[in-house]
Amino acid sequence: MEKIPFVTLEQLQKIDKTYPTPYHIYDEKGIRENARRLKAAFAWNSGFKEYFAVKATPNPYLMTILREEGCGSDCSSYTELLLAKAVGNVGRDIMFSSNATPAEEFALALKLGAIINLDDITHIDFLAKVAKDCGQPFPETICCRYNPGGYFELGTDIMDNPGDAKYGMTHEQIIKAFKTLQKMGVKHFGIHSFLASNTVTNDYYPELARQLFDLAVELKQKTGAAIEFINLSGGVGVPYRPGQEPNDIAVIGEGVRKQYEKILTPAGMDNIAIFTELGRFMLAPYGHLVTKAIHRKETYKHYIGLDACACNLMRPAMYGAYHHITVMGKDVDGPSTIYDITGSLCENNDKFAIDRELPLIDIGDFLVIHDTGAHGFSMGYNYNGKLRSAELLLQEDGSVKLIRRAETPADYFATFDFEGADIKVEDDL
Ligand SMILES: *Cc1c(COP(=O)(O)O)cnc(C)c1O
Repeated sequence: MEKIPFVTLEQLQKIDKTYPTPYHIYDEKGIRENARRLKAAFAWNSGFKEYFAVKATPNPYLMTILREEGCGSDCSSYTELLLAKAVGNVGRDIMFSSNATPAEEFALALKLGAIINLDDITHIDFLAKVAKDCGQPFPETICCRYNPGGYFELGTDIMDNPGDAKYGMTHEQIIKAFKTLQKMGVKHFGIHSFLASNTVTNDYYPELARQLFDLAVELKQKTGAAIEFINLSGGVGVPYRPGQEPNDIAVIGEGVRKQYEKILTPAGMDNIAIFTELGRFMLAPYGHLVTKAIHRKETYKHYIGLDACACNLMRPAMYGAYHHITVMGKDVDGPSTIYDITGSLCENNDKFAIDRELPLIDIGDFLVIHDTGAHGFSMGYNYNGKLRSAELLLQEDGSVKLIRRAETPADYFATFDFEGADIKVEDDL
């Protein structure tokens, strides 16, 4: 499938008059339509709820759109909990799926009434102590995170390596954890697992569901615990490359339903709610990083230097991840060159694309970097004193709203107090 930006060159030229590049822009219409497709795919399950993984795109305006579409928040840190609360997600609208969790984060989760998902068996005692110290009762509802170990395979394909992942409890531990929690008065249970990331196949969730449903039946038999929900977590991916077949969420929902009816219904467990914690699937395709070509360099290769850098989008530098690039206003079938597309960090991995065939690029051209709506802005950082960009929302009526301003040097200097470091850019030096 060809990748077409959700903004036109004319729109970008117009936006440019108010908001300079680089910036991330998000497509409200696309976000809402996709969230509705997810909801429809799981409509067969009356308790279904998506908890948007806040770490993917921690912007309260986007979280509000998702909340309006029925999504809660999946948090794993103190500030993510505060963001969830800010958009009105409290109590059972928060799933707190953290690991190596500091005490103050559990304390805030308890105060907000979040559903707590325990990553480790030792976290039972840890949480009990936190609850005691902050004067909160131990929760009556608890989720436990499961890690089956080994490799996660679909057919003959190895999808991921849970045995090498720091998350979750072993099979033996989760049974023991349930028994301990029951003795402590926990009445309602959930189980959770995240076994493969960015899966572009309709078979991931159904296979994960099969494993978790089998575990739920076993846990009920061995402990008698009342399992109320099964959390399939994140991991449903998006096609970053053109030509990749996207997931069909309707097929995925149907695949999970088949396993549910095969495993849970015969066991008399057909009142269990299905939860998801999708991040990438919810937002990645509905965000673009918009940047301009500011330099052309010819040495041993052809380079185009952008006004964005890895601080705005880390995935290519960190994982060698492919992000599609559209040179706006240029014909993809016209004259082309093999380019390296770079940012300005003093780091040779600061490249958005290496040896990529693109239409001939002129200085000043707008480049749209696709699929940056999740794990894009949020993974940003300040290396080389680079500042975080603005975030814009393309609203359903076609207007553009600033949903986070760009950082200024004052933001960069805000965490120390040092005489002379309050220089403003406009100062006459
Ligand atoms: C990162 C994460 C998610 C979201 O993952 P995606 O790949 O963006 O869907 C969900 N749950 C947990 C616990 C996570 O750490």
